[in-house]
Amino acid sequence: MTRPASPKLPRARGAARSATREAARHPAAGDLQPDTTALFLDIDGTLLEIAATPASVRVEPGTVELLGRLQARLGGALALISGRPIDDVDRLFAPLRLPTAGQHGTERRDGAGRFHRHDAPLIALDRLRSRIAAFAAGTPGVLVEDKGLSIAVHYRLAPLQASRVRDFLEQALRASDDDLGLQAGKMVLEIKPTGRNKGTAIAEFLAEPPFLGRVPAFLGDDVTDEFGFEVVSGRGGYAVKIGEGETGAPWRLDGVAATRAWLERLCRDGAAP
Ligand SMILES: [Mg+2]
Repeated sequence: MTRPASPKLPRARGAARSATREAARHPAAGDLQPDTTALFLDIDGTLLEIAATPASVRVEPGTVELLGRLQARLGGALALISGRPIDDVDRLFAPLRLPTAGQHGTERRDGAGRFHRHDAPLIALDRLRSRIAAFAAGTPGVLVEDKGLSIAVHYRLAPLQASRVRDFLEQALRASDDDLGLQAGKMVLEIKPTGRNKGTAIAEFLAEPPFLGRVPAFLGDDVTDEFGFEVVSGRGGYAVKIGEGETGAPWRLDGVAATRAWLERLCRDGAAP
């Protein structure tokens, strides 16, 4: 199933430094064996098309069923790695409750169903919460998504406000000396605890059954996924960028539809070329 890659050459970085134009192609389903793969999937922009707001995202028919089949085919070694809170992910894919990392690795439900929540400076977040709400109330089109351990400010409906949002959040963070940082994504800036990201979440999963000892693959579309790409590339796995944009991932799929088709193929006959 290999075919020529997107003409964009991935930015060489970290473990992907040796990536060549020839290597920047779709990983063949045959390159991944369901019995030995640990599969990590971003959600928005990877499994689901990005919507105007996080709440208006649409779960295409068949998605939940596909994830259920994948989980069985991979011996349970399937996890979702998202910026969304885990509760939100569970609502999207009910009745599935997959191993999931939420809020960029700040919270995690492992393969045995145990819940892990990393420390977050809750008092500092509380202080910022009211300031951010006031800012958003005075900035039409700017949407606050309060996730509990992190706060996202979306400007997809008001793209001209991008620099204003950034300036405000940078200034707000400077006034806070706690362990909080700014994380950029597609039309969104998030305040989140430092030291946790999608890469740390994947590393935690890989240290435990049923992921332990398997070859990792991570599919994601956004700059926040680069942390995960570095981890799986560093372990000889498959980092797959979904869609356009610079990346350290040596592999690429065109978009959500191509990702779903690739996952179907992996599920059906991962051993076939
Ligand atoms: Mg995404």
